[in-house]
This record gives sequence, C-alpha cells and structure tokens, in this order.
Amino acid sequence: MRTPIIAGNWKLNKTVDEALGLAKALKEQLNDLKNVEIIVAPPFTALAPLAEALKDSPILLAGQNCYPAEGAYTGEISPTLLRDVGCRAVIIGHSERRHLFAETDEFINQKIKAALAAGLRVIFCIGETLTERNENRTFEVLESQTRNGLSGLDSASMNRLTVAYEPVWAIGTGQTASNEQAQEAHHFIRELLGNLFDSSVAENTRILYGGSVKPENIDGLICQADIDGALVGGASLKAGDFIRIARFK
Ligand code: 13P
Repeated sequence: MRTPIIAGNWKLNKTVDEALGLAKALKEQLNDLKNVEIIVAPPFTALAPLAEALKDSPILLAGQNCYPAEGAYTGEISPTLLRDVGCRAVIIGHSERRHLFAETDEFINQKIKAALAAGLRVIFCIGETLTERNENRTFEVLESQTRNGLSGLDSASMNRLTVAYEPVWAIGTGQTASNEQAQEAHHFIRELLGNLFDSSVAENTRILYGGSVKPENIDGLICQADIDGALVGGASLKAGDFIRIARFK
C-alpha cells in the first residue's frame, strides 16, 4: 500500500508574509487529513519562517533545488543547510532546472546522492518535451532520465526517493496529460524501476504526476493504478485549490 503524496511546488512565488498566510490556511484546513502526505516547497527565503509556522503540523517542508557540495559556491544551497532549516525533502531535476538552467542527468544524479547522504528525501522529476512525445520518444526519454539520474543508487536508498512524472508540455500550460497518458507513463516508469532495482522498489516507490493538476482533474488522475499523488505548481499557490486537491476523492 503506497501512501499518496500531494506536494506543492511554489516555484519563485510568495513573499515571506504571503507564504506564512498560505501555510496557516493549509495547516488549519488539512490538520484532520489522514493517509495522505502533504509536502510544500516554498522559495528558500520562506523556509525558516515556515519551519516554525508548521512545526506542530504533519505538513512537510521541501527545498526546490540543492547543490551537491559545500563551500565556495556563491549563490547555491546545500542539502545539509536545507536539513538545518527544517526541510525533510528536496525536489531535484525539475524540468525548469533542466531546461532553463541546463542541468544534465549526471548533475542531477550528483544532487540526488548528496541529498540522500544528507538525510533528505528526494522528489526526482522526469518528463518528455512535446517534440519528444510527437517523435514517439517519450519512453526512451523517461528511461534515460531515470537510468542516468538514479545511477549508482541501491535499492535501500530508493525508499527515500519519490519519482515525479511531469510532461514538460503539461507544465503551466493548462494542458493536463489525460488519465490514460499519465497512467501509461507511470506504468512504464514502475516497470523500469523493477528492472533497474527490484520488484519491491517497483511496488513501493511513489510516482507522482505533475503538469496542470487542478481541483477539476485530480480525482481522475489519482485513481489510476500507478499514480500515487501529484506535484502541483500553479494550483498550489491558492489555498482553496490546493486543499481540494489534497482532499481528492
Ligand atoms: P503546474 O501545476 O503549474 O503546471 O506546474 C507543475 C510543476 O511544474 C510542479 O512541479
């Protein structure tokens, strides 16, 4: 039985005051929620205040990125410092990092290893572009991102890793993958995890869907056999929408 995860990626949005307001609403209105893990990933500047605000709440904090080293790396943030400020998890390999900041599978692999070594959980993002989908290369892309991103990890460390399938063409576009398209990709990823690791990793790893998740489409997505939750962007910025998504039916 895989416990679903609903995670909000706030991206580069929310002042500290705005973040505190949103966190307060989530804390009040999701307190009674059972059998779902809620994660929020605010910008770095809001992490410390939110750690304090959410301290008696089951809502977990995540970073949106990290750098796989410490020391003379101006402007970067390490997994150890994320832990120190109260994060339990970190998002790695988001398509905006891959495409806008030219992150490679190899770099993402280093970050995953550093984050796991620091005791963080990892939300590892993969997904094809529209061109890749139109060229029938979706599975090939998902396979190489997964194989290279998870290279050198053992089965034991996989229990702190969640995969997020985020088709690039569905992110911020309002164009959600259909339930069938998402399920097909998730099923492929789960089988791949079985090949790369073992059947227990395949069975136990949570695979989240991300890309224009809204209150209107969450229920259809989450009832698919291999969809274990959602990584929500735009709709996680509004308390009412995110609460409805977290209370999927
Ligand atoms: P949207 O929900 O805004 O499409 O963003 C998805 C995403 O990138 C979450 O990480």
